[in-house]
Amino acid sequence: MSDHEEEYGFATRAVRAGQKRTAEGEQSEPIFTTSSYTFSSAAEAAARFSGELAGNIYSRFTNPTVRTFQDRLAALEGGEACVGTASGMAAILATCMALLQHGDHIVSSRAIFGTTTVLFNNYLAKYGVSTTFVSLTDMQAWASAIQPSTKLLFLETPSNPLTETADIGELAKLAHDNGCLLVVDNCFCTPALQQPLTLGADLVIHSATKFLDGQGRCVGGAVIGSEDIVGKEVFGFLRTAGPTMSPFNAWVFLKGLETLRIRMQAHCENAMILAQWLVQQPVVEKVYYPGLPSHPQHELAARQQQGYGGIVSFKLRGGKVGAWRLVDSCELVSVTANLGDTKTTITHPATTTHARLTPEQRQEARISDSLVRVSVGLEDVDDLKTDLLRGMS
Ligand SMILES: *Cc1c(COP(=O)(O)O)cnc(C)c1O
Repeated sequence: MSDHEEEYGFATRAVRAGQKRTAEGEQSEPIFTTSSYTFSSAAEAAARFSGELAGNIYSRFTNPTVRTFQDRLAALEGGEACVGTASGMAAILATCMALLQHGDHIVSSRAIFGTTTVLFNNYLAKYGVSTTFVSLTDMQAWASAIQPSTKLLFLETPSNPLTETADIGELAKLAHDNGCLLVVDNCFCTPALQQPLTLGADLVIHSATKFLDGQGRCVGGAVIGSEDIVGKEVFGFLRTAGPTMSPFNAWVFLKGLETLRIRMQAHCENAMILAQWLVQQPVVEKVYYPGLPSHPQHELAARQQQGYGGIVSFKLRGGKVGAWRLVDSCELVSVTANLGDTKTTITHPATTTHARLTPEQRQEARISDSLVRVSVGLEDVDDLKTDLLRGMS
């Protein structure tokens, strides 16, 4: 952008931040599909490799399109540095690999993305990093789970699929009092609705696959934080191990960021209308949406978030049969586990995203057989109501 970058508002940064035009004067950001970069001399090559001279060497390390995406997302999250990754899972893996070692410990919310649980339990555990899972909303449980070897506190807020929310500021204080870092997976809110770094968190994780892309096209991820942690340590792991973001995907995500705020506002509006309507349906037993005054953390969400998000979950009377009937009756709404798309999606968590849990674990996580999750898209809400009503009669 220009020298005034810091002074610009969110919407301006979303459209402009990170862009450095080439000599061609292009208006839109170009896609640099090049795996390596040339040097003007052997001496320049040597200086770039030694780090004496800044500049591109190889696209596993840096790429101008990926850098534009990184700078723009960092500007939106209020972070010094951002690294793009091949997926959201690669972002979490890179963070853990860069910051943890054998003997270290993580305290994590139990209500996190299922694959993140598998990463912690099945893979990090193999390398001697252990994890204790606690209830997202139980501050006492977070405090008691911290050990001398604890390095990271990890959470998503709002949680998936029950949209529980935790106080990021309070957890950041707890983390810092115990010499730990607070890591927030900001997938559900995006920086358009919540900026964890400004609330005290140390690192923000994204699955760019979701709302940042926003149109269900590419898989990618990102980590945002300080220059020391993200710009040096997490970047150091990425350039060595290689789960970096492709330039094409970075370009798609860049275009996604440009419309992020207006899309999130529209997702929030549609989700609120749908949640209020669901509450009135006789076959709906309970609706989970932070925007409803009945939500247990409604006030926290109102204070901490600039909108209640696009995810609405609800329990149907009629158990699994009723839930599957609803899913199977959808003609418009897409039956897919993805979320954060302009197209509304519906999922039955107990038999898909949370199927790997034992029945006891599901009960503990309150993922009942009658629960469905809807990621509310940008269609006309009346059409969504008509579609859902088909399976509710
Ligand atoms: C999808 C998702 C991930 C993983 O991201 P991928 O891009 O699929 O690897 C991590 N966290 C949350 C909250 C997600 O929804």
